[in-house]
Amino acid sequence: MPNAVSLLRAARLARSAKPFLARGGFKRERCEGCRLVPSHCMCALRPSVPTRAGVCLLMADIEPLKPSNTGWLVADVVADTFAFGWARTETDPALLTLLRDPQWQPYVVFPGEYAAPERVVHTVQPPDPAGTGTGKRPLFILLDGTWSEARKMFGRSPYLAALQRGRAPLTSDCARFPCCSYRALAKA
Ligand SMILES: [Zn+2]
Repeated sequence: MPNAVSLLRAARLARSAKPFLARGGFKRERCEGCRLVPSHCMCALRPSVPTRAGVCLLMADIEPLKPSNTGWLVADVVADTFAFGWARTETDPALLTLLRDPQWQPYVVFPGEYAAPERVVHTVQPPDPAGTGTGKRPLFILLDGTWSEARKMFGRSPYLAALQRGRAPLTSDCARFPCCSYRALAKA
């Protein structure tokens, strides 16, 4: 079963007029599953991380096309990974549906110093404090792109701003992005 990033990549490729060339400029055959050359395929060794958390990747335009994209790694090991292409002018309705789904508590993973202090949280809600079976699952929203693309996504996505009013972005100690977003996810 192809992961969420793989599906997004296929959709993105279908839209592109010219073939995408990975860094280095030449096209090598790669495994569809792990993006390595077939002789080094690691699909059989892929771990699965048991987690109740989900991940929602918002990906800058060409990110799904890069074989080395970090979001692939998340999609490979976290079963509930969702991936959407980001554009300032249009939003995938499926993304908005996901963010409204009551089973999830969305958190935007982004350095806290770029958000208003009252929007920043440092901990994730515990699974089910009262033992009532009504606890929400954390959904970490990762802005996948260069630092400037990630800042653009953060600042120009009204649906994220709406989340931040009630549900603050998760902060991280380190100012660099995207390394911190994945580190924060690993800690959660
Ligand atoms: Zn493989």
